Amino acid sequence: MYFIGTDVGSLTTKVALVDAEGRLFFSSYRRNDDGPIEAIKQAFGEIKRTPGTPAGAATTGSGRQLAAVIIGADTAVNEITAHALAALTVEPGVRTVIDIGGQDSKIIYLKSGVSVGFNMNTVCAAGTGSFLDHQAARLNIPIEEFGEYALRSTSPVAIAGRCGVFAESDLIHKQQLGYRREDLIAGLCLALAKNYLTNVARNRKVEPPALFQGGVAANSGIRWALEKLLKVELVIPEHFKVMGAFGAALLARQRYREGSLKESIFRGLPAVAESDYRPQGFICEDCANSCEISELYIGGKLAGRWGSRCGKWEAGAETTAVPD
Ligand code: SF4
Repeated sequence: MYFIGTDVGSLTTKVALVDAEGRLFFSSYRRNDDGPIEAIKQAFGEIKRTPGTPAGAATTGSGRQLAAVIIGADTAVNEITAHALAALTVEPGVRTVIDIGGQDSKIIYLKSGVSVGFNMNTVCAAGTGSFLDHQAARLNIPIEEFGEYALRSTSPVAIAGRCGVFAESDLIHKQQLGYRREDLIAGLCLALAKNYLTNVARNRKVEPPALFQGGVAANSGIRWALEKLLKVELVIPEHFKVMGAFGAALLARQRYREGSLKESIFRGLPAVAESDYRPQGFICEDCANSCEISELYIGGKLAGRWGSRCGKWEAGAETTAVPD
């Protein structure tokens, strides 16, 4: 018996499989370069050996409804629920979860094992993976070495990090003044960490134990900058890149154990990996809400619809996308 979690974000798709005991035994992390549908197909195509049949499947992330129709998920959950559950499983006493992904970032506050607040930033990309990739390319260094450069700095340059646009233009200006790359990168890391603490954490106290997860947790420069500003040691969980998918799989397991998930509607590994998918959409003009309705056809048949505020279009689909 096992459980599947799928986390579809704006830039990457993550899949995690946990066994009956909740232990992660397979994970996949893929960029959505050819779109999320292709990333999901390829990730499921990678799964070769499983202990029996899946007893439950859940999705999360901004693309959770699309993913729910593709795989036949039993439930779709928001990112906060999934990340909080994964963090609590790794570190039961966790008080803060700092999550910085490819294009957005969030912070979750927990007390006695319960989420007591969160904030997400999907507007300013400063400090996220895509922004760091771009700056590393501009400075002509591999992103994998970005953090090492920052750690070699002896005198970080002051960079204006109020937003991504300011940070980039100030970095270019300081670059033209001839500062060393080590000091520029360390200064940029500090500016981005400060931006995160101001705009996402909103200067609320970060209590330890604090987990740092998401793709950017691999960047030792950002970790160093956050720890320096917070004066708190950050814990990077082993599966830091796939914590959302891990949390979704754990949630499917939790619902199964509670008895609220009887028989999984998961479509099966070969079906998910090999089917032909066709997304399309339209704007409903039946009232002033003008909802954007998304549809997904699998093998030429309408498999799911989502996006209406009143629920009228979901009801007309053969299979409706799983609501939050
Ligand atoms: S889907 Fe419902 S709420 Fe949305 S525009 Fe159509 S009638 Fe209005």
